[in-house]
Amino acid sequence: MIINMAEGASEQQIEHVIESVKLAGYQPHVIRGTERTIVAAVGSGGNRVQLEALQVAPGVEDVIAIAQPFKLVSRQVRRENTVVDVGGVPIGGDDVVVIAGPCSVESRDQLLTTAHAVKAAGARMLRGGAYKPRTSPYDFQGLGQEALHLLSEARAETGLPVVTEVMSTEDVDIIAEHADLLQVGARNMQNFALLRRLARVNRPILLKRGPSATVKEWLLAAEYLLAGGNSNVVLCERGIKTFETETRNTLDLAAIALAKELSHLPVIADPSHGTGRRSLIPAVSKAAIAVGADGLIVEVHPCPERALSDGPQSLDFESFAAMMRGLSSPVRVVSLPMAKHMGSPGG
Ligand code: PEP
Ligand code: MN
Repeated sequence: MIINMAEGASEQQIEHVIESVKLAGYQPHVIRGTERTIVAAVGSGGNRVQLEALQVAPGVEDVIAIAQPFKLVSRQVRRENTVVDVGGVPIGGDDVVVIAGPCSVESRDQLLTTAHAVKAAGARMLRGGAYKPRTSPYDFQGLGQEALHLLSEARAETGLPVVTEVMSTEDVDIIAEHADLLQVGARNMQNFALLRRLARVNRPILLKRGPSATVKEWLLAAEYLLAGGNSNVVLCERGIKTFETETRNTLDLAAIALAKELSHLPVIADPSHGTGRRSLIPAVSKAAIAVGADGLIVEVHPCPERALSDGPQSLDFESFAAMMRGLSSPVRVVSLPMAKHMGSPGG
């Protein structure tokens, strides 16, 4: 349930509602908007009638049920967009933010040259995998802690905040020491033990959509993070499994628009994993921005043909810079009938 406080409700009135929600057996989450405050009552097994009675409590405008199974991530509890601050870079604000870097951190030279190149091209954040979720156990698994130190060094040199994947609860503390944004990979979207642990970490989370997850399941995974206390969550659409085999995954553009509609959380797109083909990345990136993505995460490598992971979908420095130059150019003009033919009856 959502308890909408009236505009100008006093702190004392808000406090009374919070206490009453607890007494009714629910957890109160207070969302302070620019105009009004909302108290979301979440949980199960509480006394619903007691919550409904808050309708007549002083300072309360109305009490309404949250229609969706996800509660705290729902736009119903927060109409304004959430802006997540990642080491000083806002995601979800006015500007589209581009995150770029190699799939995997492979060496000092590879990471630092990439960091400088993507920064020069306009990226605001650096990505690089230290712990890699590989389909085969015989493939390169990442440099682990060594990569984390290199990511810290790259941030110190370039000022770019860094994002890297956390695969296991064991690694959360060490990764949180080095990274500004902790990525939950697609394969781990429903690793509930990991989500619960990350809900208690003092770092924003990038939550990728699972390759076979519905939008509802994705938002419910985000709900674990918010319900556990971490409201700094960025959603990432990275493509889903379909019958198509020409692309690695199918980037679900409608899901980006839908997630923005259903949730106040920022949503970014990963056109690299979403297509698996470097030739498609500029066009698909533009499409993602057109449907409302707040950012992009793109794989870039100094020499994609020698990459230890995801070479075929990685851009080299030159093609990344070219893509960045093209991102802000307008999409094609839609032909419309001239004004004189429109509107006036008989005109
Ligand atoms: C990655 O970002 O390199 C990655 C493995 O992503 P995903 O979890 O989307 O496959
Ligand atoms: Mn990758």
